[in-house]
Amino acid sequence: MSLEDSLCGGGHGRCPTTVMKPTFHHRLINDSYEDPCVFIRMLRESRALLFDAGDLSRLKPADLQKVTDVFVTHTHIDHFIGFDTLLRALLRREKALTLYGPENIIECVEGKLRGYTWNLIEQYPMTIEVFSLTEKEVRRASFSARESFRRIDKGTWPFDGTALNDPPYKVKTAILSHGTPCLGFSLEEDYHINIDKAALLAMGLPVGPWLGDLKELIRQKALPETQIFVEGRGLAFSDLAHIAGITEGQKISYITDVSPEEENRERIIGLVRGSDTFYCEAYFLHADMERAVERHHLTARLAGEIARKAEVKNLMVMHFSPKYRDLPGIIESEAMREFLG
Ligand SMILES: [Zn+2]
Ligand SMILES: [Zn+2]
Repeated sequence: MSLEDSLCGGGHGRCPTTVMKPTFHHRLINDSYEDPCVFIRMLRESRALLFDAGDLSRLKPADLQKVTDVFVTHTHIDHFIGFDTLLRALLRREKALTLYGPENIIECVEGKLRGYTWNLIEQYPMTIEVFSLTEKEVRRASFSARESFRRIDKGTWPFDGTALNDPPYKVKTAILSHGTPCLGFSLEEDYHINIDKAALLAMGLPVGPWLGDLKELIRQKALPETQIFVEGRGLAFSDLAHIAGITEGQKISYITDVSPEEENRERIIGLVRGSDTFYCEAYFLHADMERAVERHHLTARLAGEIARKAEVKNLMVMHFSPKYRDLPGIIESEAMREFLG
């Protein structure tokens, strides 16, 4: 058994003695009839991610400033109009803004940037990195304020399905169809390390930045005899086994604007399997399936069925057609009836 296994009592299952504290919070920005968009706030760093960039006007300026990565399902206006809001908010920020999207995302960002005049921004630090994702390859381009947002192509390479790999986080992608390529996303934390404060105090050890170093050693699978110094006291990595517990990491997933065809549904189930929270569009009621096929959207019943088959823990339906505004709760009921069986 590795030290990593001994820390969690074997395997990466939920540790019964350790209460899991989340490392990120997530929420829909708008109501179910408005643009779908999930804001994900990393709790121990000044960082946030976005799934889609529709209307972002409800985000506070401080929240906009934290956004580092935007995962765009497709560039229909209700999923991309918020790019301008981000652009304006982040023009003076040093940290780059990174976008991931379908095959035409680079051209769409370029088109947006070409829509303005940029002769007075050479001093601004803003850089935008854009990754176009297809079945076969990743294509990268960047745009910087110093260069008046001129497009600079940075090459292509094979795509393995992981859009972002920034330990402990991964964002995985499925390429789906909506009459146009549309991406599905899942954000997964590899595993979650919890510190047992009572055990820490029993050893006479303080809470402090050294715990971050300990977590890093666990992630790096350090050797048991590795020394850690806490306030001048040298301790072996293995002596600290009982103060850290490992639980499964959080997983959330986001699917919207996909045709109800079987191939899409199978791909979605593979991507979102076991999610703690699954955000899924439920644009139409199943009685309007014909319309759903024509418009390339899922129905509430299909959202529930996918969630049940993928064994997700919570289903959050979103992106309802405005035609059901006068029937409050009807879409949620159809989805939940199917999800809960
Ligand atoms: Zn849409
Ligand atoms: Zn769409």
